[in-house]
Amino acid sequence: MLDTASLQDTQQHQSITILGATGSIGTSTLNVIAMHPKRYSVYAISGHSQLHKLAKIAEQFAPQVIAVNNQEDALTLASLLPHDSTINICCGEQGLIDIASHKHVDTVMSAIVGAAGLLPTLAAVKAGKKVLLANKESLVMSGELFMDAVKTYKATLIPIDSEHNAIFQCLPTNYEYANPNASGISHLLLTASGGPFREAMPDELKNVTPDQACAHPNWDMGRKISVDSASMMNKGLEFIEAKWLFGIHEDNIKVVIHPQSTIHSMVQYKDGSVLAQMGNPDMRTPIAHALAYPQRIESGVEALNFFEQANFTFEAPEPERFPNLFLAMRASRLGQAATTALNAANEIAVEAFLAEQICFTDIFMVNQAVVEQMHSPTLNSIEDILSHDANCRALASEMVNTIISEATQC
Ligand code: NDP
Ligand code: MG
Repeated sequence: MLDTASLQDTQQHQSITILGATGSIGTSTLNVIAMHPKRYSVYAISGHSQLHKLAKIAEQFAPQVIAVNNQEDALTLASLLPHDSTINICCGEQGLIDIASHKHVDTVMSAIVGAAGLLPTLAAVKAGKKVLLANKESLVMSGELFMDAVKTYKATLIPIDSEHNAIFQCLPTNYEYANPNASGISHLLLTASGGPFREAMPDELKNVTPDQACAHPNWDMGRKISVDSASMMNKGLEFIEAKWLFGIHEDNIKVVIHPQSTIHSMVQYKDGSVLAQMGNPDMRTPIAHALAYPQRIESGVEALNFFEQANFTFEAPEPERFPNLFLAMRASRLGQAATTALNAANEIAVEAFLAEQICFTDIFMVNQAVVEQMHSPTLNSIEDILSHDANCRALASEMVNTIISEATQC
């Protein structure tokens, strides 16, 4: 992965598919693309519930194809486009797979949230595309199989997640996958803001609302990842993501709480050097970096002003405060079935929390119980992963239903 040699010709125009164009990452990607119309054009976009937003994006960026959820949404979207529009509308999972792997596409932004992103992202990988990976759930669900496919199909994988993009920027350009030792690397230091509840005591969190959980102090993101950030599950998913992206053992990844979110992550070398990547917390920076790599382009993000910067502080995460983070670290060591289970349980639990069906603290209870019960199977194929994912979702949904029927105080 991260094959720098194959990226030397990126001065050429790139035709891009944006999976999840209506979301937070999708919007930031379109903002960067709009600044560089000669360099990038949009071949296809996808959305799920926001059809009006898709039509507006289509008006500005003139994609050739738009992928939506189903036939009914395709008809609605068609009615929102001009009568003489020549844009093709496709739908369902196959539609996403088609726009991710189409021969006219050079680069795919993978920015669908959750497990729904796995198959389209894998399709882009198998078509040998340059894949800009925001959808961390793909790697959590299928780590080794995903990375094997990147290698087999000679895809180029560039991380968008700000921490992993930062680490990518701090690694040597000749970094040898899964061999940090050869590059003199001692540890990856994943920074975490600690989210909106960093200073809250665990027993204060039972009755927090979805809006409180989504009010991240530094980043503006979709609701699922915002809840994950508040519960620190996001950092847990990122721990697993880092393991697979860079081929690094769990012992060599540390999480460092850095509330200011200015240092996006660091690489610690054996000689005592620590390389950090910094900037204002704005996803247009990693997006612009990944789109243009190995060159640099304008992203629209303001330069970091060190003189206005508050002090940099650092804390170690405590297991009692952030149980989801430590559960994810444990799942990572247990293996693929455990991380697939964790992702599935977390998606179900977060959805139930956002729907105000369960408490914030129930998210951990559901996640832990599903990981404990479902970590054993050996998963050898994507079919195995999908079937395990479905079983874990069923178990998590059962638990959510039990919590709903038992709870009166939430
Ligand atoms: P959003 O919720 O803002 O956007 C999600 C996108 O996925 C939307 O385009 C949405 O469509 C689409 N979508 C939702 N459900 C489905 C589905 N079942 N099938 C197909 N498409 C679907 O999320 P973010 O942009 O915040 O996050 C996207 C991904 O990027 C996540 O994996 C997240 O972890 C990752 N990420 C995000 C960061 C951020 O700053 N936002 C930072 C790092 C990683 P619609 O809106 O039309 O319903
Ligand atoms: Mg991140």
